Amino acid sequence: MRPPTITDALRARRLLADHLPPTPMWSYPALNAAAGATVLIKHENTQPTGAFKVRGGLTLLAGMDPAERSRGVLGYSTGNHAQSLAYAAARFGAPCVIVMPEDPNPAKARAVRALGAELIEHGADLDAAAAHAGKVAADRGMRLVSAGDEPALIAGVATAYLEVFEREPALDAIVVPVGAGSGAAAACLVAAAVAPGCRVIAVQSAASPAAYESWRAGVPLTRPNRTRVEGLAAGCGFALPQGLLRSRLADFVLVDDDAIAEAQWTLMRDAHTLAEGAGAAALAAVLAAPGDFAGQRVAVMVTGGNASEREIRACGGITAAA
Ligand SMILES: *Cc1c(COP(=O)(O)O)cnc(C)c1O
Repeated sequence: MRPPTITDALRARRLLADHLPPTPMWSYPALNAAAGATVLIKHENTQPTGAFKVRGGLTLLAGMDPAERSRGVLGYSTGNHAQSLAYAAARFGAPCVIVMPEDPNPAKARAVRALGAELIEHGADLDAAAAHAGKVAADRGMRLVSAGDEPALIAGVATAYLEVFEREPALDAIVVPVGAGSGAAAACLVAAAVAPGCRVIAVQSAASPAAYESWRAGVPLTRPNRTRVEGLAAGCGFALPQGLLRSRLADFVLVDDDAIAEAQWTLMRDAHTLAEGAGAAALAAVLAAPGDFAGQRVAVMVTGGNASEREIRACGGITAAA
């Protein structure tokens, strides 16, 4: 599998220009005071699907040849990868099947169906859903799209980082939440090309550290996957993004799920924005290590806003009790 290059990211930006406007990036005085740094919030939660992944889905569908596209795409996901594929398939008139583990986030399941995709609920976890997805894709002749090992998704997601560095060329650091690693890999790709002085810092939940431990070990590893934060729930390292992270990532940190919930609350209060847990993990990492960022200009990727009602209520509850 050929890793994507900065040229692929620039090509993706041309493809996406007709589909998605740039997302806003703002700084908030109350948040800067809390962090002791100038924090720039990149609002990927304002995408039409509520998450950055739509950049990848649209780039993938745009680049498929018409015959393959007409057979359709199939993905397995707890949510945002699914919405990205469903949205892009609808845009390009392609069939789309999504396999989710049983009892999915109802908001994400509803959104996938509303976009016209067929939703199959199968298995107790994402591994079981993935095995079933492979079988259905083979039966139906559809293209199975990995959430991590897919160059077109990384090239598409890289357009978010082109926007960040275009607005803020002199960042000291950019902090990116990680599940499969496509977002952090894209950040590394773009930073290496246009902002080599900017540190790219990846963040995962301590309850699901597969990407973190894979990066530390230098080989993809399988690890327990117990986070309640959907977008960060990956049980293994993915080879393609890990390859991009290996030499270019400055640091990888872990945060716990309660700190993520508090950061969700902080984003609502100080940045007037709704993040799902995964979308608040980067801010949680900055707030957990203020000494690492003191006085710096730091971009924080708020990657998504698809919080379930249960999640929104729980995050308010944790903070009120604290
Ligand atoms: C998927 C996702 C992530 C993690 O991105 P990867 O590219 O899988 O590492 C982070 N935040 C949100 C909201 C997501 O949907």
